[in-house]
Amino acid sequence: MIDFVRSIAIISQVRKRLSTNCVCAIAVSFAATCALLPQTRAASSDPFRYRGGLRNSPGKHKLNARQLDAVLTSLRDKTGLLEMRFDEDWFLTLGDQTKFSGGSATARALLNATASLPHAVDLESHMYSPEVAFARLGKSVGYYNYTTGSKIDVAPLEIDFSDFSKLRGDRQALAAFDLGFVILHELGHTALGLRDAADDLQALGECEELINRIRRELNLPERQTYVAQAHAAPVSYGSLRSTQIAELVFARSVEKQGRMRIEKFNLNWEASQVGPSATIADRGSNTSDRRPQIEDRLKVARDKPDATFLPRHE
Ligand SMILES: [Zn+2]
Repeated sequence: MIDFVRSIAIISQVRKRLSTNCVCAIAVSFAATCALLPQTRAASSDPFRYRGGLRNSPGKHKLNARQLDAVLTSLRDKTGLLEMRFDEDWFLTLGDQTKFSGGSATARALLNATASLPHAVDLESHMYSPEVAFARLGKSVGYYNYTTGSKIDVAPLEIDFSDFSKLRGDRQALAAFDLGFVILHELGHTALGLRDAADDLQALGECEELINRIRRELNLPERQTYVAQAHAAPVSYGSLRSTQIAELVFARSVEKQGRMRIEKFNLNWEASQVGPSATIADRGSNTSDRRPQIEDRLKVARDKPDATFLPRHE
């Protein structure tokens, strides 16, 4: 399978001369070019190269012990799986899946689908990368062993751990957009083939709909759009120089004194400090303008039948 580079956080910025359609056309053209140029490599000396699932990269971008532990801790937090670990060959193994404490059933199902993949997903560390905003799937590489006939596609899941320290905002929003959620998002792409909302700036896309279901099961606020809004702000107090601040809004409905209320939480980061910005500006709509959209979105998400993307296994 071929995976094209996708980023968790596309920041949009409307520019007078660069329409969204133009951006899409470039993306389509890039995808078409990639499709014509699949990468294939001959057999690897890595003895586990032909085993599928999620693993630490054996190459130069491998996660160090601390990074691997951060991934495991955050995924455990989302799934509640008590026996989940990276085994001695650096593959994520789930252990006895009936042993869990709290966590999200959807996250458990997504990781179960990931651990059973016929292709491999390699975790890679790309610290301070100007190309990676939080995380993205790189281009898959196919391996073929001419002696044994084994073959496998390997998708690199590139993570810039340094980006997470640049996040600012409400505590609940920070909890709803952490390392584990970002990895789960990319796994939604590569394990289930889910897509982002590439052409509707107010939409989420099926991949983030799945991640929102996980947030809901963990009682965390839900992301409201796939694309972040960007606006200019002074570099420092009183400075004439400005920088682009990207912002995502998270929301959840709560019942207070018999009435349903919407709680909103903001998350922001300095776009140039985090990663690539193929970008869109705030169109000036204020918070109260967005409120009906948020209410509608939360209602639709709540009322949606428990769908669709994942095989049930528990
Ligand atoms: Zn995505």
